[in-house]
Formats: sequence, C-alpha cells, structure tokens
Amino acid sequence: MRTPRTSRRISRAARLRTAAAVSALALALAACGQDSEGGSEEKKDSAEGGTIGIAMPTKSSERWIADGENIVKEFEAAGYETDLQFGEDKVENQVAQIDNMITKGVDALVVAAIDNTSLTEVLADAKEADIPVIAYDRLILQTENVDYYASFDNERVGKLQGQYIVDALKLEEDKGEKFDIELFAGSPDDNNTRYFFNGAMSVLQPYLDSGQLTVRSGQTKLNQVTTLRWDGAAAQKRMDDLLSGNYGGEDVDAVLSPYDGISIGVLSALKSAGYGSGGKELPVVTGQDAELASVKSIIAGEQTQTVYKDMRKLAKQAVQMTDAVLTGGKPEVNDTETYDNGVKVVPSFLLDPVSIDRTNTDLLVEEGFYQAGDLK
Ligand code: BGC
Repeated sequence: MRTPRTSRRISRAARLRTAAAVSALALALAACGQDSEGGSEEKKDSAEGGTIGIAMPTKSSERWIADGENIVKEFEAAGYETDLQFGEDKVENQVAQIDNMITKGVDALVVAAIDNTSLTEVLADAKEADIPVIAYDRLILQTENVDYYASFDNERVGKLQGQYIVDALKLEEDKGEKFDIELFAGSPDDNNTRYFFNGAMSVLQPYLDSGQLTVRSGQTKLNQVTTLRWDGAAAQKRMDDLLSGNYGGEDVDAVLSPYDGISIGVLSALKSAGYGSGGKELPVVTGQDAELASVKSIIAGEQTQTVYKDMRKLAKQAVQMTDAVLTGGKPEVNDTETYDNGVKVVPSFLLDPVSIDRTNTDLLVEEGFYQAGDLK
C-alpha cells in the first residue's frame, strides 16, 4: 500500500514552506541578536524537520557501518531526521526498504546500491513522489531518476592499486625479471567494479603485454575475476583453487585485490598454502578501504597496501548535495562527464583516494580516521 503521491508532494512542499518561514523568522530574530529559541546562535538555513531515507548495502563491512553513522551525523547537524537501513547484501531487502521510505514520505533518498540495475522501478516511484535521489559511492544505472552522485575517483583507486604493484616489483626498471600475478575484481553488479579493474589494468596491461607479468591461471578478463558481493570467503576459495591449479612449482608474486575483505580472504588462502612462513614470501597484495583488520595486517607485514577513502568527507559531500537540492541551493559537483549511467550523465562530486602501505599508516591517525591505540 502506498500513500497517494499528491499528498506526499504537498507534504514536502508544505514542509519546505515551513522551513523557509522558520528560516525567515530565524533571520529576523538574528537581526535582533537572538534566534527563535531565545539563544544567540545563528540558525542553519536548511529544511528543518525533513527526513532523509538512507539505504546502505550491508553491515558486513566496516566501511558501510561508518558511512551510515557519518551520514546520519551530518544530516542531523544540518537539521534533518534520518531513516537509516542496511540491505544486508540482498537486493530484495534494499528495494523493499526504499519502497517503504517512499511510502513514509521521506524528503530525499541517499542510496548506496547493492545491485546497480535493480532500482529502476522503485526510483520511478520516488520520482513520482517528487523525492530526489543521491547515489552514494556507487552509481545507480539504467534510470533517469538519480539526481547527483557523490563518490571517490574510482578509476584512480584502481590505478593506485596497479601502480603499487608496478612499483613494488620494480617493473619500470625492467631488470629482465619475470613475475606471476593473479587478478581479483569486485562484485559484477557494482558499477565501481569496472572502474577499479580498468584503472588497475590500464597500469598493469603494458607489463602483461611485454611478458614481465604473467597470469598463470589465464584469468584476465573482468568476467573471469569478479567476486559476487565482494565476499571474502568466495575470494579465499578462488585463491585456493588458483594456487592448487597453477602454482605447483612456482610462487605467485602479486595479487591485485580491489577490497580489503577480499585481500584478507586471499591472504588466508596464501597462508594455508605455506606463504608467509619457512622462507616462502607472501606476494604483494593490494586492497581498499583501510579497514582496521587490513591496516593491522599491513603493519604486521602481511597485506601490502590499501586505498584510504575518507568516508567522513564523502558523507559531508552527499549531505551538502541533498541539502542544496532540497533548499534550492547549488549542489557541489566537480565532474559532469565520467559517470554515464546508461540513461544520462550524472553530475558527480569525486573525492581523492590515497594509497597506504607500511610507510604511511600514520596518516590514518593524523587524520583522526583511527586512534593510535586502534592500530596496536
Ligand atoms: C566501494 C568500496 C568497497 C566495496 C565493497 C565499493 O562500491 O566503493 O569502497 O570496498 O564497494 O564494499
């Protein structure tokens, strides 16, 4: 059962009018040196009292839990209420959650999709109810009903991973040494996956072509190396199979991993196969998200690299965009070309990712992403 579209539309419009009136009153009172609550601080010019539906993909990874908390905090600071839901990596849960938010009459939706093409129908309902949609971190495809996109430069994430491998194996020096690498990619239904993979391959491909790098399994195409729902256990199983099927006599020297949860799975398979002990060195293993377990693993000399993306900044960006859309302001964007969702190019704000290895984990403490004690 849905509430009638018009009543929702009116309620949002009415709320915005009320917000404008509150702001006007606040301004008038501020001119007299006080705010509407009798204090002396200035009131924020935002749609006070609006509710934002926030649909996050899963709690199985630290980053999305932190994202949810950060987004809620930022919206509350801007005077909004929030309805935060996690889909637990089940597409039908996420669709039902968003449907429910629309029915409840939220004023805007912030969505990190589980499956990038499964939201077309529910977002058509959002459009009908005049609810703007911000795609969070993951672009939503095949719909015109996505207004803005806040993310990181996803291709750059892949390039940082690829370049890390090139540098660690000193491939640019071309000393005639040959190395073996295996490739992992993220979930096939996440739009970021191809950006990460293509970014990494744009750096690695010349070395595969020259023969400095070999993929012994022969699995080099994106559709051969994806990991459904970014599942670390699935990655561990695939790495077990790759090692037993292709590395009888040889050691693998590098593993391109797109995400820390996958890296941890890959490392478990490597350790079970004897890497990391008895003089058998672990290969270079990349990652992403600077999750605590992986940063600790990097400090302990196991995982080699990760990509730090400050989700606090991403949350701020998404909230700025949403608030601007709701209050007639200007959403900040810095890219209007890259993210074509199949129906339109979605105006985006892309933040910068940073490569982290043993030499610069301090940055995470300096920036307050972790406390020093967390990393002990
Ligand atoms: C995000 C990554 C994350 C991955 C798995 C991607 O869409 O951009 O930061 O590692 O999902 O959760």
